[in-house]
Order: sequence, then structure tokens, then C-alpha cells
Amino acid sequence: MLIHGSCHCGNITFDLVWPEHTETIGARACTCTFCRKHGAVWTANASASLSVHVEDSRLLSDYAFGTETADFRVCARCGVVACCTSLIEGKLYAVVNVNTFDDFDSSRLVRGEVSFDGEEEATRLARRAANWIGDVRMTEL
Ligand SMILES: [Zn+2]
Repeated sequence: MLIHGSCHCGNITFDLVWPEHTETIGARACTCTFCRKHGAVWTANASASLSVHVEDSRLLSDYAFGTETADFRVCARCGVVACCTSLIEGKLYAVVNVNTFDDFDSSRLVRGEVSFDGEEEATRLARRAANWIGDVRMTEL
């Protein structure tokens, strides 16, 4: 299954190739203050692949906080956070914001809430390496 997504103005677009056998997609509202304030709801699948295209990288704002091990990729023009990436031992992992999906039947989302407060950094990175999208390409022009 191929899912297209984009920020509001189209500066950030992505193609997410989801494993075909999956009928539903888990969508997790992270309870950290950044995600809560953005209304970001995330999904990932270790077998998925993600290709992110940024039209104008000057209008891409990377925001990190806390352990600073993840970059929230925010469009500086329209303010939408499309994805979040983490570089772990030289490999790029990502989660995507399901609210940026285009032409996707949202009834297929299985929503939940998750909190990673107080998680140790090593645990956090191991969890991302196991669960986040492990095939990520980003093209910035
Ligand atoms: Zn935008």
C-alpha cells in the first residue's frame, strides 16, 4: 500500500510504502508537550519504507528537544510537522504524522495514546531501531 502525505503548503511531501498485508494502521498520539501542542499522531512500521521530499530546504525547520536524539521535521512556511527522524548508529529511522496523510481512509487508523516520559535514552533508541520505519530517504533541494 502506498500512502502519500504532505504538509499543508506542499513543501514537504512523502511516499510511505506500507506492508501490503496490513488492513489497519496503528496511530499513536504521543503525550509529550510538543506532540500535544501540534496535535501530531504518529505511525511507524519496521517493514515500511519512507521517501521524503523537501521542495525548499530553507523552509524546513528541524526541531529537537529533551534528549535531542530525534528531529521533528516542521515546515517553516505552514507550520505542519510531517515526520520525525532519528539517526541511530548512522542509520536514519522515522515516524510519520498520520494527520498529514492525503487521500487516506482515516477509519483504518487504530488510535491510541502513548507516553515515553522517563524512558532511558538507550531504551528509547533501541525501541526506535526496532519499531520505527527503517528504510528512510530524504531528499532536500
Ligand atoms: Zn508546508
